[in-house]
Amino acid sequence: MSHSAVSQAAAVSVSVGNERSLRRSVFKQSNSISFNSKSSSSSWTSSLALNQKTTSIRDAKRYTNTTVCMSVQQTSSSKVLVSPIELEDPKEPPLNLYKPKDSYTAKIVSVERVVGPKAPGETCHIVIDHDGNLPYWEGQSYGVIPPGENPKKPGAPHNVRLYSIASTRYGDSFDGKTASLCVRRAVYYDPETGKEDPSKNGICSNFLCDSKPGDKIQITGPSGKVMLLPEKDPNATHIMIATGTGVAPYRGYLRRLFMENVPNYKFGGLAWLFLGVANTDSLLYDDEFSKYLKDHPENFRFDKALSREEKNKKGGKMYVQDKIEEYSDEIFKLLDNGAHIYFCGLKGMMPGIQDTLKRVAEERGESWDLKLSQLRKNKQWHVEVY
Ligand code: FAD
Repeated sequence: MSHSAVSQAAAVSVSVGNERSLRRSVFKQSNSISFNSKSSSSSWTSSLALNQKTTSIRDAKRYTNTTVCMSVQQTSSSKVLVSPIELEDPKEPPLNLYKPKDSYTAKIVSVERVVGPKAPGETCHIVIDHDGNLPYWEGQSYGVIPPGENPKKPGAPHNVRLYSIASTRYGDSFDGKTASLCVRRAVYYDPETGKEDPSKNGICSNFLCDSKPGDKIQITGPSGKVMLLPEKDPNATHIMIATGTGVAPYRGYLRRLFMENVPNYKFGGLAWLFLGVANTDSLLYDDEFSKYLKDHPENFRFDKALSREEKNKKGGKMYVQDKIEEYSDEIFKLLDNGAHIYFCGLKGMMPGIQDTLKRVAEERGESWDLKLSQLRKNKQWHVEVY
């Protein structure tokens, strides 16, 4: 896209979006929007104008005209066109198209820190260009092989690390050519000195967070079926529970449910997201999620647990399981009516959540073990923790 085409597309969008975030995105990376939840949100119209591949000024004007014709009200509720719609055709998800010994060389499009200054640690939103060669479905993961030699097997490459894909199959540029990851930089602190020991920092997460636009990256996959979004019933309930980067697959789901104009799939059910992070600055994709709340209050609920800022009812830190407990009656009723429940994030989240659910079940005079086996049997229970 030429700069003049970009400027034209953005120039009109700013009337309904946010000039600063648009300009920043446009000049940083022509095909991406800003994901920094600490900056103001831009409307889907802004995303559309920026992300549809405008190959000429004439194309840019076409989008420009579309924007002008919409009222602000229409803009906030309109959905983004996606392509190629053939990505809807397969009956089964793509699986392991590329393997560790035969990985795909993709290119980094952008790397953006998506947490504020007071967040403990760093999390980055990383857009990868696969040029349409590595299709995936929402809820799947990519494998990444970091460059260099495996210290445990001299001469051999590093082992694959898996990352949940944080975009829909159309990617953040809505053209089916990119995938996005949400990566937390693994940093090692010596338990005795409390100081960072860079020699023990995580290899792949640091490679990803330090990479630059244009860098090559070896990808495998896509993999995973457990977190696929069941779409048979467009009026289903989806209860999504995440800690930190565990929110990645849900970002993909929610964009599909609320942001994109997906042919033959019009969501009319309930999506309920519980997100646990340390503090406000650690919230991920908050602008996107807040917009769904505003635009689809009847179809979206969003509850946050900020462990370092909020207290639970016993005066302890507010974890995601405390939020679940707060709404346990509703959650149990929704599960009894067939809701899907998903868990994604650090392994350590599960014991606390399972204990809470067990306690609530017992208070209701139910057997949690029985309930859990029923949920598993009905394919309502989806867990991906790492
Ligand atoms: P590694 O190099 O593998 O090191 C692992 C840990 O060991 C690090 O914390 C490192 O600091 C520590 N370490 C290294 N050397 C030493 C030493 N000598 N002594 C003590 N400690 C040491 N992660 C995300 O950020 N986002 C995701 O969306 C995501 N999705 C995932 C999905 C799945 C299905 C799975 C299985 C995992 C997912 N992960 C995700 C985790 C991810 O795969 C990696 O495990 C993570 O990024 C750490 O990899 P690394 O190469 O950076 O760390």
